[in-house]
Amino acid sequence: MFDLIIQGARVVDGTGNPWYYADVGVRDGIIAALGRLPGDAAAALVYGNGLVVSPGFIDIHSHADTDVMVNPRAESAIRQGVTTLVTGNCGFSAAPITAEKREELKAGDLLRDLEISWLTMAEYLVALERCRPSVNLVPLVGHGTLRNVAMGYEQRPPTPAESQKMAAHLSQAMAEGAWGLSSGLIYPPGCYADTPELVELARVTAGYGGIYASHIRGENDTLLDAVVEAITIGEQAGLPVQIAHFKAMGRHMWGKSRESLGLVDRARAGGLEVTCDQYPYEASATGLAAFLPPWTQQGGNEGLFERLRRPDTRLQITADLLNGVPGWVSLHKGVGWANVVITSSPSNRFDGQTVSAIAASRQQDDFECVYDLLLEEGNRVGVVYFTISPEDIIRIMQHPAVMIGSDSGALAPYGPLSRGKPHPRTYGTFARVLGKYVREGVLSLERAVSKMTSLPAQKLGLHDRGLIRPGFAADLVLFSPEAINDTATYAEPHAYPTGVQAVVVNGVLSVEDGEHAGAGAGRVLRRPA
Ligand SMILES: [Zn+2]
Repeated sequence: MFDLIIQGARVVDGTGNPWYYADVGVRDGIIAALGRLPGDAAAALVYGNGLVVSPGFIDIHSHADTDVMVNPRAESAIRQGVTTLVTGNCGFSAAPITAEKREELKAGDLLRDLEISWLTMAEYLVALERCRPSVNLVPLVGHGTLRNVAMGYEQRPPTPAESQKMAAHLSQAMAEGAWGLSSGLIYPPGCYADTPELVELARVTAGYGGIYASHIRGENDTLLDAVVEAITIGEQAGLPVQIAHFKAMGRHMWGKSRESLGLVDRARAGGLEVTCDQYPYEASATGLAAFLPPWTQQGGNEGLFERLRRPDTRLQITADLLNGVPGWVSLHKGVGWANVVITSSPSNRFDGQTVSAIAASRQQDDFECVYDLLLEEGNRVGVVYFTISPEDIIRIMQHPAVMIGSDSGALAPYGPLSRGKPHPRTYGTFARVLGKYVREGVLSLERAVSKMTSLPAQKLGLHDRGLIRPGFAADLVLFSPEAINDTATYAEPHAYPTGVQAVVVNGVLSVEDGEHAGAGAGRVLRRPA
C-alpha cells in the first residue's frame, strides 16, 4: 500500500533528462516506487494526465527566515511548487544573536508582535519547527549577523577578540546544523569587512563541509572584481562558492555577463566549485538605504539618521552618489531615480511610485527626497529598480552553473505579509522560468527543472532531495507545462502563478487542485555532521 500515487504524469525527474511516463508511489514521506502502479494500492490518488511531475523546487536564495513564523503556510513559495527554502542569505540570518540584538531584530520588521525566543542557531531552528512550516527550511549563517553580534555596525577591521567571537559563533551555528556562511558585501555591516576577514570565516565553514554564498561586493562597476573576490575566498578557504542573484547592473554594464561568466568558467576549470543563481527579471529589489555610501550607516540606524539630518552631510552623500567612493559605486549609477520604485514603507504612502515622481510632487530635488524618505520612514523603505538587460538574463540563465533563486521572502496576499508591493519575483520566479523562458526556447523544460531541483540539492549536499528516485524524500510538484505562468506584476505583485496543480511536501499533499491544503509538513533540515 502507498499513501499516495501520482498516476499518468510525465516525469521530469530533475536530472535534465527527457521526460518519461511513470506513476510515482509515495510511502512514509519517501518516494517508494516508480513505474506502473495500481491506483487501488493507494490511500490517495492524484491523476496526472497531461501534467508534468517533477521534484519540488529548492529555492537556493530565499529571505524567508522569519516570514514562516508570521505565516507558516509559505504561500508565495509553495504556490509556485517550491518545497525547500534556503534562508540566511546576503549576510543576514535570524541566528545566532545575543540578548542585546534581540530588540534590534524586533524593531526591523514584522517581528515586532512576535516573541523572539531564540539566541543560538539551535534554538532558532527549534522555534522554526514549532511553527510547523509548509515547506522545508535550510539555514545559512549570515556574516553580517556575526559581525553585528561581535562588534556592531563599525567600519573598521575586527580586533583579534572580535574575530574570535565571530568564528566561535559561526562554529557553533555550523555544529548546530547550518549549511554554510552567507555574506552581503554591499550592506553594512558586512561591507566593512575585507577579504581576509571573510577567508578566515570561510575556513571555519569549510571545516564543517559548508558552502560560502555571497551577495558580492557590487554588481555594477565593481562586478568583475567582486566575482574575483568571491572566487578568491573559495580558493583560499577551500570551499564551494555560490554567487547570488548573478547579474550586470546598470545600462553601462550591459553585456558584462560574458566576462563575469567567463571568470566563473575559468575558476571551475581550475578546480573551484563555483556556481550561481538568478531571478528572471529586469528589475532588482533592495532597501533604499543600500543606495547610500557605506560610511553613512556606521553605528546603524542611529548613525544614519543623525547624518541625514545634517545639510552638509547630505551634500557629501550626494557627491559620493554621483562620483563614487574608491571601491564602491552607488546602485544609482546607470539606473537613475526615475527607475527606482518604492515598494514598501511603514506608512505605505508611496508604494508603486518612482523616487522622481515623489520628489516632483513634493517639489524637491531627487536626492533630498531620498534622504527625507529614509528619515520619515525610519529606514524601512523597500524599492525595486530597473537595471538588468534581457540579453544578460538569457545568457546567465543558459549557463550550466546557474540555478534559479527568488531572492525573496515567503509572503501571502492576505494578513501581515501582504503589505506593500514586493518584487514580483516573490510569487513568480519559478513559474516565470517554466512559463515564459521555457516556452520562448531559452531552456528546455527538463533543463529548467534541473536548475530548480538537482542542481541546488547537489550544491548544498542535500543528497536525498532534488530528484525523483526511489528512496528520495517525496517533495513533488504537479504542473501543466502549457498553463504554468507567473501572474505577479510590479503593480500587482501579490498574485499566485497559474498551472500548479499539486505540491507534495515530505509525502503530504500540501497544494491540492491549485489550493493550499493547510498542511504543515515542512521540516527544518540540519546539515548532517
Ligand atoms: Zn542579495
